[in-house]
Amino acid sequence: MILQSVNPATNRVENTFPCWSLQTTATVLDDMSEAWSRWAVFPMRERVDMLCEAAREIRARLEPLAVLITHEMGKPLREARLEVEKCAMICEHYAAHGPQYLAPMRPHGAPQDATVVFEPQGVVLAVMPWNFPFWQVFRIAAPTLLAGNGVALKHAPNVPGCAEVIEHIFLSAGLPENVFRSLFIDEDVVEPVLSHPGVAGVSLTGSCGAGSSVAAAAGRYLKKSVLELGGSDPFIVLPDAELDKAVPTAVASRCRNAGQACIAAKRFILHRDIYDEFLERLIFAMEDVRVGDPLRPDTDMGPLASVYQRDRLQNQVDRCVEAGGCILLGGSPLPGAGAFYPPTVIADVPPDADVAGEELFGPVALVFRAEDEDEAVALANGTDFGLGGAVWTADTKRGLALAARIRAGSVCVNGLVRSDPFLPFGGTRSSGYGREMAEYGLREFVNIKCVRTG
Ligand code: NDP
Repeated sequence: MILQSVNPATNRVENTFPCWSLQTTATVLDDMSEAWSRWAVFPMRERVDMLCEAAREIRARLEPLAVLITHEMGKPLREARLEVEKCAMICEHYAAHGPQYLAPMRPHGAPQDATVVFEPQGVVLAVMPWNFPFWQVFRIAAPTLLAGNGVALKHAPNVPGCAEVIEHIFLSAGLPENVFRSLFIDEDVVEPVLSHPGVAGVSLTGSCGAGSSVAAAAGRYLKKSVLELGGSDPFIVLPDAELDKAVPTAVASRCRNAGQACIAAKRFILHRDIYDEFLERLIFAMEDVRVGDPLRPDTDMGPLASVYQRDRLQNQVDRCVEAGGCILLGGSPLPGAGAFYPPTVIADVPPDADVAGEELFGPVALVFRAEDEDEAVALANGTDFGLGGAVWTADTKRGLALAARIRAGSVCVNGLVRSDPFLPFGGTRSSGYGREMAEYGLREFVNIKCVRTG
C-alpha cells in the first residue's frame, strides 16, 4: 500500500510514500507515549517558545510550503500562501493567549479552597482532510501541543507531502522528537491507533461517514472525540440586502478553495422579492471567475482536489437535474486531464430531494426561493447539517433575529462566515460536536481537574 501525491491540475503522480505496517505504527506510538510524558511537564515558557519558533519557521518557508499545497491539492498559489500565513498566526495566537486560557482558576461562586487546573492527557490523534492541508492540522496541533499533549497526525492520503513537512516544521522549531508525528497509515489502522493506551482521544475533520466511523471506534475504547464534519451552509438574502456586497461575498464563499470548504455557503435562499435580481447577478459574477492553472497569479479557481472529487461532484449535479433542478451555469467538467470544474448555478432543486440535503464539495451553488422569512428559516434548517450560515439584510436587528433561529455553530449577518482564532469553531447535529480554537479548542483534550484544600 502506498500514498500518492497526484497533482490535480495534471492528474500526474508527483511523489509516493510507502504506508507503515501495524508493527511500525505501534512502535512509533510507544515512542510517542514516552516522549509525551516528558513534554507534559515541560515549563509553559518553553512550549510557548516552541510555538513562536514554529511561526517563524512557517513564515521563513512560506513560498515552498504554498507551492507544495498547490501541487498536492490544487488551490491557487495565492490562496495557499494565505493558508500558510494563517498557520503562523494560529501558533502566535496560542503562544500569546494559551497560557492565560490554561491558567488555574476558581469558578465564580466556587468555594475558596477550590482550584480548577487543566492537565495534559496524552497523545491526540488528528484525522485530517486535504482541503486545507496545513491549516486544519495547525489549528488542532498548536493548542494541543501548548496544552502539553502530543499529536499523531493521520493526514488524508492525497497530501502525504504536507504531512511530512509539517512534522519537520515542528522538529525545526525545537519540539522534542516524537511529540508530533505524521503517521503514514491508511484508515484501517486508525482503530488500532485509538486502542493504544497512550492515545487520549481523536479530533477528526472530514465527512460525516468518516466522523461516525472514527467516533464509534473511539467510543469502543472510551476515548474522547471531537468532530468537525461537513456543512451545507445557508446564505439567506432578504429584499433590503445590499447586493453590491452580498453577491461578491456569495461568489467568494462558493468558489474559494474551489468550493471545497466546510463553511462555504452552499445553499442560496433568496426572498421572492429579490430572487430574480440576485440570481441574475450571481450567474454573471460566477461566470467571471477565472478557472485555470493554480500556479498562475491571475487564476481565481484551480482544479478540485482530485478526479475522484470531481466525479463525485458531477454525480451530485446529475442527481440535482434528475430531481428537477435546472442548470443555469456550468454543470459539467472542463475538458483535459486535470480535475477542473466550472462555477455552476442550479435552481429549482426540490428542497426535499436527497441531493439537496448533501454537502456539495465544489463550486456549485444551489438556489432556492423563499416566500417569506419563515420559509427562509425552514429551508435554512432543512438539512441535517448545522455548521454555519449567513443572513443578508440592511436591518441588522432583523438579521440578528433571523440568525437566532438558524441551527448552526456560527451565523454571520452581512458578512462572510469564516474562522477566527479568538472564536469557537464547530457545528451542531451532523456537522459534528466539540469546538476548535480560542479557549474552547484548547480545553477539549485536557483533564479539567478540581483540586481542594479544605
Ligand atoms: P473523508 O472524510 O473520507 O476523509 C477525511 C479524513 O478522514 C481522511 O484522513 C480519511 O483518510 C479519514 N477517514 C475517512 N474514513 C475513515 C474511516 N472509516 N476511518 C478512519 N479514517 C477515515 O473525505 P473524502 O476525501 O473521502 O471526501 C468525501 C467528502 O467528504 C467530500 O466530498 C466532502 O463532502 C466531505 N469532506 C468534508 C471536509 C470538511 O472540511 N468538512 C473535508 C474533506 C471532505 P482515508 O482517505 O485514508 O480514509
